[in-house]
Amino acid sequence: MTQFTVSRNADVCRCILRRAAVISGTMNSKHHENTVASTWERPFAPPASCPHKADVVIIGGGIVGVSTAWFLAKQGVDVVLCEKGHIAGEQSGRNWGWVRCQGRDTRELPMMIESMNIWRGLEVEIGEDVGFTQGGCLYMARNEKELRKYAEWLPTAREFGLDTQIIEGKELDHHVSGASSRWLGAMYTASDARAEPHKAGPAIARAAIRAGAKLLTACAVRGIETAGGRLSAIVTEHGSIQTSSALCAAGAWTSMFCRSLGISVPQLQVRGTVARTSPADVILNGNVLDKKIGIRRRQDGGYTIAHGSILDHFITPSTFRFSLKFMPVLLHEMRALRISIGRPFFEELGTPAKWALDQESPFERTRVLNPAPNPAVLKKIRRTLDQLFPQLAESEIVESWAGMVETTPDVVPVMCEYEGIPGFHIATGLSGHGFGIGPGAGKALAAMLTGTDVGIDMLPFRLSRFFDGSPMQLESTI
Ligand SMILES: Cc1cc2nc3c(=O)[nH]c(=O)nc-3n(C[C@H](O)[C@H](O)[C@H](O)COP(=O)(O)OP(=O)(O)OC[C@H]3O[C@@H](n4cnc5c(N)ncnc54)[C@H](O)[C@@H]3O)c2cc1C
Repeated sequence: MTQFTVSRNADVCRCILRRAAVISGTMNSKHHENTVASTWERPFAPPASCPHKADVVIIGGGIVGVSTAWFLAKQGVDVVLCEKGHIAGEQSGRNWGWVRCQGRDTRELPMMIESMNIWRGLEVEIGEDVGFTQGGCLYMARNEKELRKYAEWLPTAREFGLDTQIIEGKELDHHVSGASSRWLGAMYTASDARAEPHKAGPAIARAAIRAGAKLLTACAVRGIETAGGRLSAIVTEHGSIQTSSALCAAGAWTSMFCRSLGISVPQLQVRGTVARTSPADVILNGNVLDKKIGIRRRQDGGYTIAHGSILDHFITPSTFRFSLKFMPVLLHEMRALRISIGRPFFEELGTPAKWALDQESPFERTRVLNPAPNPAVLKKIRRTLDQLFPQLAESEIVESWAGMVETTPDVVPVMCEYEGIPGFHIATGLSGHGFGIGPGAGKALAAMLTGTDVGIDMLPFRLSRFFDGSPMQLESTI
C-alpha cells in the first residue's frame, strides 16, 4: 500500500513537472524519438553541388513545393527545388494534419476535391506511409445558432457532391464518446481525413527525388535574374541556376521575397500553437473542432490538439502596409486574434527591402521559422481537454510547438504567373488549410508551369484580384 502510494505520488509529481516544462517551453522534443519536431530539429544538409540549369526551379520545400516537384518530375520535367532549411520544416510540418473539404471556400473546393483523390492513392503510389486516414471531420455546435450556421453550408456541400450532413444525439456519440451531453449537434463529413504532417512532406519529397527531381536543402534562394524582362536565372547561396520558369512557394517568406523583386504580395502571418498527447484511449476517430479546441487522433495513438479559435498576430510593418486590404478579414477574425506588438515589429523593420545577391540574405539568417508556442494557449488547451474529454485527463502533453500561418486578404491562395516577369510564378497564402490542398495544388501548379490543361478554374487565385478593384469575397476563416 505504502509502495503504491509512493510510486503514485512520484507519477503525479513527474506528470506535474512535465506539464510545467511543456507549458513553459523548457521541455523540447529531444526527450522523445519520432517527434513532430524531428522534421526541423536536425542538422542542415547543404547540397554537394548546385545544378547550372533546369527547366523549372521551385523556391520552398513545403507541401506545395514538394508536391509540384513530384508532379513535374513524373512528367519528365527537369526540376530543381531549393529549400533554405529542411523539407516541411515550417508550416507543412507543424500543422494539425487535417485534410478536409468541409467548410472550405467554394473557390478552393475543386482543387481540394482533386487533392483528396490524390491523398487517397498517395501511399500506394509512393510506397510510403503518410498516416492518411479517412476518419471524418466534425464541427461541433453548442447551441441552435451554431448548428443553424453549419446547416447553411449543406447546399454548398450538395453542389460539390460532398457527403456533409448534420448529426445529433446517438449518432454524434458514435463519433465522439459522450458528445451528446456536451454538444447539440455537429456538421459532419465522413470522407474528410487526416495525415501526419511530419511524414507527408518528406515522403512526397522522396517520391519527387525518385521520379528525377533534384532537391537541395540548406539552399536559400536570394533572388532572380532577368533578361529582356523575362526570368533567366534563380540565384541561390550556392550559385545560379539558369531557367526560364520558377515557382515561388516560399510560404511565410513569399511577400518579403517578392517585395525584393518589386512585386507586392499582400500577406500577413498569425501564430498557431499546437501540442500532442501521449497515446490514450480512443474517444474519437476523426477531426473535431469546437470553438475552444481542435483535436484529432494521431497515428501513434495520441491526439494532436490546439485551441479552436485563438491565433496570435504580432504587429509588424507589413500589418500597416497591408492594413486596408486586410481590414475585412481582421474585423471578421477579431474574436480569434490576440494582437500584440514587440520584437517581430523591430525584426521586420530591421530587415532590408532589397539585398545584394552575392551576400548573405535574410533567408540564410533564419533557416527555419520556429516561433515559440504560446504558454497561455497551452494552458487553455489543457484545461479544455480535461473539461470536454475527461477520459483524456490523465494523458500527458508530450510535445508542443508553434507555426506561422500566412494568409491573404480573402483567405484564398495566390497561384499564378506574375505578369510583370514572364516565367516567374507564385503559390502562397494557403492559410490554415494548405496542408490538405497541397497535393492538389502541386498537380495544378505543375500543369500551369508546363502550359498544359490545369483542369480547374485558376482565375480566382490570380494576384491581380487584390489590385484591379475586384470585390473582396470572404467565405471562410484563416
Ligand atoms: C499551426 C498550424 C496549423 C495548421 N493546420 C492545418 C490543417 O490542419 N490542415 C491544413 O490543410 N492546413 C493547416 N495549416 C496550414 C498549412 O500548414 C499550410 O497552409 C501549408 O503547409 C503551406 O504550405 P507551403 O508549402 O505553401 O508553405 P511552407 O510549408 O511554409 O513551406 C515554405 C517553405 O519555403 C521555404 N523558403 C522560404 N523562403 C525561401 C527562400 N528564399 N529560399 C529557399 N526556401 C525558402 C521555407 O523554409 C519553407 O520550408 C496549418 C498551419 C499551421 C502553422
